[in-house]
Amino acid sequence: MTSVFDLYPHLITLIGEVTVLFILGCLICGLILLFLTVYAIRTGNLLFPRFMRAGLIFLEGMMRGLFKLVGVEDQEFLRIMVTLQNTLNRKAFMVIPIPERAVFIPQCLRSGACPAHLHEEGLNCRSCGLCQIGVAKPLLEKMGYKFFIVPGSSFIKRMVKRYKPKAIIGIGCLIEIKEGTEMAGQLNLISMGIVTTRDGCVETAVNWDEVYQIALLGVSRADVPQELEKYSS
Ligand code: SF4
Repeated sequence: MTSVFDLYPHLITLIGEVTVLFILGCLICGLILLFLTVYAIRTGNLLFPRFMRAGLIFLEGMMRGLFKLVGVEDQEFLRIMVTLQNTLNRKAFMVIPIPERAVFIPQCLRSGACPAHLHEEGLNCRSCGLCQIGVAKPLLEKMGYKFFIVPGSSFIKRMVKRYKPKAIIGIGCLIEIKEGTEMAGQLNLISMGIVTTRDGCVETAVNWDEVYQIALLGVSRADVPQELEKYSS
């Protein structure tokens, strides 16, 4: 009669084989992801974005090591993650009506001499002419967007709770966008992230053309303000 102890060596062998197969599978997936990521960085084209995103999240630790081996820095990895998320969210974002969208601008984007005061919904921009926020705010609000200039993620959560947007556009540095995207996922929001072109604590910069292009996604030409017509596709 076969006892449990007789099965023990077979069980150990089976576990060993499954482990080796799992490691091999991860390595093969890692190499495919590495190829797809390097291709995306070189050409700007994303192939199999769903597979890439799931793989890069699941194998993040290993992928960071592999990227380092081939000279891809963490910053580029994060940038690809943001681009992937935006690509995957694009279609869903386009069908959300503008009144159900919100834009969150970090307060570091304003002028160092900004005269606006903080109130419970963020900074109260006076469109004083010292920075581009004062231009973007009335234009996007005219379209129906909710527009907030916020000092941190706690404000974003509070405004989301209060106004219940279905989609948001967030601007920030790479780390903020990565964390913001994760937060948006937990809150069931469709998010589009825009990475600042100059980081820091004050007078950061963003490509406003990119902001308007994303804000106009899914908007019919008739609803686009004259000032933004050139960004409408
Ligand atoms: S335009 Fe608005 S955000 Fe920019 S500096 Fe003036 S008040 Fe501040």
